[in-house]
Amino acid sequence: MRPVYRPDCRAATPGSDAPVVEPGPLVTIESPPTFYEESAMSIDGGCYCKQIRYEITGDIGMKFQCFCRECQYLTGGSPLLTFAVPEGNFKVTSGEPKEFTRDDLENPVTRRFCPNCGTHITSIAMPGMVLVKTGTLDDRTQFDGPDMAIFTCDAAAYHQVPTDIPTFEKTPG
Ligand SMILES: [Zn+2]
Ligand SMILES: [Zn+2]
Repeated sequence: MRPVYRPDCRAATPGSDAPVVEPGPLVTIESPPTFYEESAMSIDGGCYCKQIRYEITGDIGMKFQCFCRECQYLTGGSPLLTFAVPEGNFKVTSGEPKEFTRDDLENPVTRRFCPNCGTHITSIAMPGMVLVKTGTLDDRTQFDGPDMAIFTCDAAAYHQVPTDIPTFEKTPG
């Protein structure tokens, strides 16, 4: 059966077998969430093999749970947890991530990962912001859960779309 994607979803991935599922209920935001949070301490993290290390200082931005099809490749099937950091607050302190950008999408995301162990560290999807993968934090309690779920249009039937935070078929913007 040919995969069917909602027209408002991102371009279908060739060969994908993901079925179309109804996303969870949409939650209305009364007032927009605060974009920046003060992170009291520095946040350190890195890849699985420790070749890539990074440090975050200063404010961090919104925290997301992303259900997009591309993130499912990176996680092995689950939605991905990530948070935004202003570019100037994120610094790679050792190693050099490799970079990949699809050339068949209109607005492709650039993804950076460890060339040795393959762990995905960051994505660049918004100008001036680095999206950091939560699984790379040394202390994962420094991430206290997502502010919103995005790209629920790509959620699979076996995914659980949250009902206690705002959800968006694509993005709020
Ligand atoms: Zn590594
Ligand atoms: Zn995603």
